[in-house]
Amino acid sequence: MSDPALPVLDIHTHLAGLGHGGTGCFIAERKFHSLLYKLMRWKLEIYDAHKHERLDQAYLERLDKDLAEAAERKLLHGAVVFAHERIYAEDGSPAATGQELYVPNEYAFAVCERSELRGRMLPACSIHPYRKDAVEELERWIERGAVALKWLPNSQAMDPRDKRCVPLYDLLVKHGLPLIAHTGGEHTVSVIRPELGDPAVLRPALDRGVTVVMAHCGTRSGIFDGNWTREFIQLAREYPNCYGDTSAFTTPGRSRWLRYFLREEGVLPKLIHGSDYPVPPNALWSLRKLGFSQARAINTIWSFLARDVAIKRAWGYPDQVFTNAAKVLGRKSLERWQVSPQKI
Ligand SMILES: [Zn+2]
Repeated sequence: MSDPALPVLDIHTHLAGLGHGGTGCFIAERKFHSLLYKLMRWKLEIYDAHKHERLDQAYLERLDKDLAEAAERKLLHGAVVFAHERIYAEDGSPAATGQELYVPNEYAFAVCERSELRGRMLPACSIHPYRKDAVEELERWIERGAVALKWLPNSQAMDPRDKRCVPLYDLLVKHGLPLIAHTGGEHTVSVIRPELGDPAVLRPALDRGVTVVMAHCGTRSGIFDGNWTREFIQLAREYPNCYGDTSAFTTPGRSRWLRYFLREEGVLPKLIHGSDYPVPPNALWSLRKLGFSQARAINTIWSFLARDVAIKRAWGYPDQVFTNAAKVLGRKSLERWQVSPQKI
């Protein structure tokens, strides 16, 4: 059952930047000028912002507006925004090559701590478990109000089965915070260890008692990706502390999963709404279900965050999927960030 007293949150949104304005963010040149990133910049209407050295600001202004429109339309109360850790080598030092994306925890928190937007954004910190100071770092960011720990194991080259993860799991359990871990294929950053897209690698976290949100539910995105959807479903049924998010389900690569999960008995209560912002949602990929006029009407919604909710609502996803984020993040985090269901 969904709780009307719970706010509706998007559990999966990304920050990004080139470091303009001293944010500390980083995107590798090769990625930034790739077709996929160009398409996203164009869709976000920030295509040339980097030429004026204000990509980070333009991206954030856009995200703020997306969130404001989603709130005005009464579709969302707020969003969890992600920091994105560097890749670390096995020996615990930052990898010398292959760094493509970096969003410092400091920046993610600064974004959420803006007083005029209090309650709209909640920070998920990102800490590589191979870092020698990983435990102290996690403690530090929990202290400052991290609502979750975010990992992208196959691209950040971190194995959740590594014993160095155990103290981090224990800290999360102690503070009642979830781990949000990417599962399934990945295309925005390069995959280093594809086998780590398998949700089963997160079993040690589940066994330790951590609430794990498996981003994308282990689903396939591109034709060459692994597909671990069944593995996710098995874990979701087996562990009460296993959840999956619906991020990027409104894109061409993953739209088929919207239909798939609606038919999967008993799994819907374990799903959590997430968009994967800035990935552009498009109702046309749901044309068969929604029909042309409804799909077109939804696509007139400017806000990506609002449009993503509208598509999933039109499919008939229940309230619970939209309030599960608040449930999993816990009342303590919601109070700390002053997120209230009345605020919209
Ligand atoms: Zn993502």
